[in-house]
Amino acid sequence: MALKIIDECIACDACTEVCPSGAIEGADPIYIISFDLCTQCVGYFDDPEPSCVKVCPVDAIILDESKLETDIQLMEKYIKNNT
Ligand code: SF4
Ligand code: SF4
Repeated sequence: MALKIIDECIACDACTEVCPSGAIEGADPIYIISFDLCTQCVGYFDDPEPSCVKVCPVDAIILDESKLETDIQLMEKYIKNNT
């Protein structure tokens, strides 16, 4: 799966601090998740709930149904981004 940030974002910056891949960029008016960098935390943590989702105070980070990925694809992205 891939994630995206929706209009409810209040630009609080909490998610950027916990993202292990540097995938979240501060932007105006709402933050943006890089599809190329986000592994949905696969490879970084064992917890199935992504770090950014856990800290977002307004539930603005959701699954992007148009960019579904398998766990294998996410792990391949993690390896690519860390070699
Ligand atoms: S799911 Fe993980 S890797 Fe993706 S943007 Fe959120 S914290 Fe970063
Ligand atoms: S934690 Fe949520 S509200 Fe805060 S910047 Fe990230 S997406 Fe926006």
